[in-house]
Amino acid sequence: MTQPEDAPVPTRPGPAEVFAYAPAPESRAVVDLRSSYGLFVDGRFVDAVGGGSFKTVNPATEEVLAEVAEGTAEDVDLAVAAARRAQTRVWSRMPGRERAKYLFRIARILQERSRELAVLESLDNGKPIRESRDVDVPLAAQWFFYYAGWADKLEHAGFGAAPQPLGVAGQVIPWNFPLLMLSWKVAPALACGNTVVLKPAETTPLTALLFAEICRQADLPPGVVNIVTGAGETGRAVVAHPDVDKVAFTGSTEVGRQIARTVAGTRKRVTLELGGKAANIVFDDAPVDQAVEGVVNGIFFNQGHVCCAGSRLLVQESVAEDVLARLKRRMGTLRVGDPLDKNTDVGAINSATQLARIRELSEVGEAEGAERWSPSCTLPAHGYWFPPTVFTGVSQAHRIAREEIFGPVLSVLTFRTPAEAVEKANNTPYGLSAGIWSDKGSRILWVVDRLRAGVVWANTFNQFDPTSPFGGYQESGYGREGGRHGLEAYLR
Ligand code: NAD
Repeated sequence: MTQPEDAPVPTRPGPAEVFAYAPAPESRAVVDLRSSYGLFVDGRFVDAVGGGSFKTVNPATEEVLAEVAEGTAEDVDLAVAAARRAQTRVWSRMPGRERAKYLFRIARILQERSRELAVLESLDNGKPIRESRDVDVPLAAQWFFYYAGWADKLEHAGFGAAPQPLGVAGQVIPWNFPLLMLSWKVAPALACGNTVVLKPAETTPLTALLFAEICRQADLPPGVVNIVTGAGETGRAVVAHPDVDKVAFTGSTEVGRQIARTVAGTRKRVTLELGGKAANIVFDDAPVDQAVEGVVNGIFFNQGHVCCAGSRLLVQESVAEDVLARLKRRMGTLRVGDPLDKNTDVGAINSATQLARIRELSEVGEAEGAERWSPSCTLPAHGYWFPPTVFTGVSQAHRIAREEIFGPVLSVLTFRTPAEAVEKANNTPYGLSAGIWSDKGSRILWVVDRLRAGVVWANTFNQFDPTSPFGGYQESGYGREGGRHGLEAYLR
């Protein structure tokens, strides 16, 4: 068939059209959201004694998702008492092989309900569904599988012939990986025969409450897991409770310091997983495109709300221009928007407070003379959003090079020699993680030996595995989570 003469001449689509994705939103219908939630104490959902509550919102829309009970010191008291009863009468007396069955069961239910958990996590936290679906939830299940395997082998873990549980663990977790941080805390504690009182972050309580339902589904004995929702005051009550034997905290260095002061002089054992300001070091012999992917993953994964985020890019001067050009080109392809859309790369900032902090530090970066750049992107009209941002011309004295921004903001510094890279990477009060990009094994080993960081990734970044320990030095905290080392924090 011939075309009429006045038909428009078809043009080749430009790159933007080739890569324009149609919306692909995940369905919200898989989540059965209730309008209000109670605390989970002694195997039951109960109202807070004081009757208080707070709202949790969807950060992508500012819509209120649910009203959640606000636990007070009295509620914490009830939860700790329930945990103590369960620990002494049931859980610590149960053989490890029986405890393992519960952990395996929880792991299986996490997998079975993974879609529901992923959607709920993205709704409450703002993270892209691709990440909650492919990272948070599968890793949470893996943590339970892994520690289920340890529950009947504790005498072979290297902590003595008959290691004993500590008792009741008070656990306070942040909002950046709500379900995953819960798993990091709850799985090893339970495997070792402890019971827990866990306080999720006030902006992301919903997956912890769904986890409570999963504990019931798994027939976990009442009182083994207790979940008390609330804000800082509730967390303080958990940490300060005299009948808590062990405190495990992940969050800011400032609150970590307060906790260290609270427990000082008591018999309580403590692990603190705090902030970071990781260096991602790119050498001149690095596979550049692979390194750029790693840099993007290091800082824009989970909107940069990651304690081990590669928030300082240290790039060797001779390749800096090329790396930056490719980085900016790659940043231009990141899709920012609806967290429930399966094409989204960068979701919403978790809260108005966090957005204000990111904005403030970015303004300080400009005021101190660094050059700010973001790709052009249209941010949604409602909700809390911040575009992927890179600062060049950053000096080590700048606040954006020293302080944890906890957002999608990268500070770029350059170096000439490996020794200078090490010196700059270590020039931080933190020491949680670092990344190295180089083709030479010997160079990688030389640098790794000299970096003061708990985890160093080589030619990759943000890899998490339940079998390997994770934790920091200096102001990044103390204690290790994950692997055999993670058991030590819960055994006498
Ligand atoms: P935060 O430390 O204030 O909160 C973390 C958890 O601790 C929450 O559950 C909170 O309710 C609780 N909490 C607050 N005050 C407490 C107290 N006095 N005693 C006991 N528990 C208490 O963190 P945030 O306010 O959500 O974020 C502030 C900054 O912390 C961020 O900008 C970021 O730099 C950092 N942060 C780090 C991590 C991490 O994984 N290392 C996680 C979240 C936030």
